Amino acid sequence: MYDTHIGLKRSLAEGSSFATARRFLSRSTAAIRAAACYLAGAGCDLLYPPRCVLCRADLPAEHHVSMLCPQCLSRLAPETWIGCRRCGGELSGEKLVSDRCPMCKNCRLWFDTVVVLGSYHAGLNDVVVRMKRPHYEALSIAMGRLLANRRHAALVDLEADFLLPIPMHWTRWLARGVNSPELVASCLSRVLRVPVRRRILARRRRTAPQRDLSPAARFRNLAGAFRVRRRAKLRGARVLLVDDILTTGATCSEAAKMLKQAGAAMVAVAVVARA
Ligand SMILES: [Zn+2]
Ligand SMILES: [Zn+2]
Repeated sequence: MYDTHIGLKRSLAEGSSFATARRFLSRSTAAIRAAACYLAGAGCDLLYPPRCVLCRADLPAEHHVSMLCPQCLSRLAPETWIGCRRCGGELSGEKLVSDRCPMCKNCRLWFDTVVVLGSYHAGLNDVVVRMKRPHYEALSIAMGRLLANRRHAALVDLEADFLLPIPMHWTRWLARGVNSPELVASCLSRVLRVPVRRRILARRRRTAPQRDLSPAARFRNLAGAFRVRRRAKLRGARVLLVDDILTTGATCSEAAKMLKQAGAAMVAVAVVARA
């Protein structure tokens, strides 16, 4: 996908001669085939080197599908996640106040529940940063498979009608060439047998990066950032939003708000990391 993106930029920069365009198309096809092979879980060693996608250690045969070595698997994702049912925040002994924890009881979140793979601060920080970069598509796929398998029961219990990766503004997609929530959603879709519907939500505008903003400013930054496409039929729908990281929940809450106002009955969130 990175090659596709760079190829497109080069084609444009070089004046898009026929030969350049043909080379670009050829590279695009190869990149799409490679991605399809990964998504299909094909055991092709050429496209699918038997090494851990994170630490590059040799992989035992039984770890070829997960693409992660036993050490990384146990470090990244706990077998169970003890967290708030509402916001997914990790809990260590605090008592829930109705269905809200101390972290989310004072803010309005539009989604109903969050399924979390692991903690951003306990090993997943480096993973999430890499997932956003070109060339790390395999890592996003590995994390999608891990999320689907480790949290399978919780995800099935949601009885989602479809999965919806948080969309990226097209200008950011051109700059990065990859939207990791889409790759994670594709993996969840294969394991859960629930379709992905990408054309439900659109980014209305490009927002400032969230990382430098206070929690309150994050919610303001995202206000009105999404719109539901006109033909989306959401009346009574059960939607599972997919994102790579959830910090304050501002992004997913704003997306959930649009979906519920368009008629969705339930909006849950699945994330790789909870900060
Ligand atoms: Zn590893
Ligand atoms: Zn909470």
